Amino acid sequence: GPTIGVLALQGDVREHLRALASLDVRAVAVRRPAELEAVDGLVLPGGESTTMATLARTFDLLAPLRRHVADGRPVLGTCAGMILLADRILDGAAGQETIGGLDVTVRRNAFGRQVDSFEGPVSVTGLDAPVHGVFIRAPWVESTGPDVEVLARVEVDGHDGEVLDRIVMVRQGPLMATSFHPEVGDDPRVHGLFVDLVTQI
Ligand code: GLN
Repeated sequence: GPTIGVLALQGDVREHLRALASLDVRAVAVRRPAELEAVDGLVLPGGESTTMATLARTFDLLAPLRRHVADGRPVLGTCAGMILLADRILDGAAGQETIGGLDVTVRRNAFGRQVDSFEGPVSVTGLDAPVHGVFIRAPWVESTGPDVEVLARVEVDGHDGEVLDRIVMVRQGPLMATSFHPEVGDDPRVHGLFVDLVTQI
């Protein structure tokens, strides 16, 4: 199978490596540009997007990460990783940098204004049965560009008791991103979708 890297600067790296280990791939931690070069696909884990961006700059990885995306190589971003992939961030920290490439606007800590964390079933395009979505101070996708395919939405309570549909999983070519944490728990099906994408490219 392919070699899948997990950016290992901060966040839930071990959980992603474990989820990938249950699939037919070689899963490796990525901390240096040479390690990034060697992977077929990359996972950006959940954690704290500002910290990860700062560490990526410190470790001279920000430019190589942007090149990885610009070269059309696959990336799965989860939660903080979704923020790092987004071209535009709402409610970001002052001067917050991204890798970019995914033509979406994400709202950081979007669900957090209602409730910090929640869990529930999420129907994902391409999977027969819903996944158990774990959302932890999660972003949502506020708007998408024309080449972005929406793979999942969840309903959240808006003002006045109205129910809003929020985008929580997207794909644009070789880039895939989730608001939730597919690495938490024991269900590698979202990672499986990403591995399928890596092997098809
Ligand atoms: N709120 C975090 C951020 O802005 C993301 C949270 C997460 O990855 N669980 O980076």
